[in-house]
Amino acid sequence: MRDDETLDEAGEDICDQCGRLLDSEDVRIALVADSSAVHADSDRLDGQRLVLACSDEHLVRLQDVYARRPFVEPELWAGKIERALRRNRCWLSGRRLRRATGLSADQIRQALAWRTSGPALPPPRASGGELTAGG
Ligand SMILES: [Zn+2]
Repeated sequence: MRDDETLDEAGEDICDQCGRLLDSEDVRIALVADSSAVHADSDRLDGQRLVLACSDEHLVRLQDVYARRPFVEPELWAGKIERALRRNRCWLSGRRLRRATGLSADQIRQALAWRTSGPALPPPRASGGELTAGG
């Protein structure tokens, strides 16, 4: 219980594991590999995600989650393409897209194929397939 509730200034970051508000003096930080992480400003940080945790235990759990997540390069490339399109607010020719993303034509093709086929998401709800029982 706190009498003083003047923590608004520092209390913006939360633990990525449990959502707890982080104390700026007691935060754990790690950089993990993540092919879904594309940064708005810095291309050099693409594929890396900064994770914040409230304890050593939660930091280890987060690192474990990202270590087990497959690093899918076409996912990263698709993110770079989306960023390039956002920055240019329109379509880009193939050559300009290659220059803007630093990707090869083949990498762009793979990224678009990955985007089209989509990441394998589980169905929202596991239902029985008995909708057409009437025959
Ligand atoms: Zn936590």
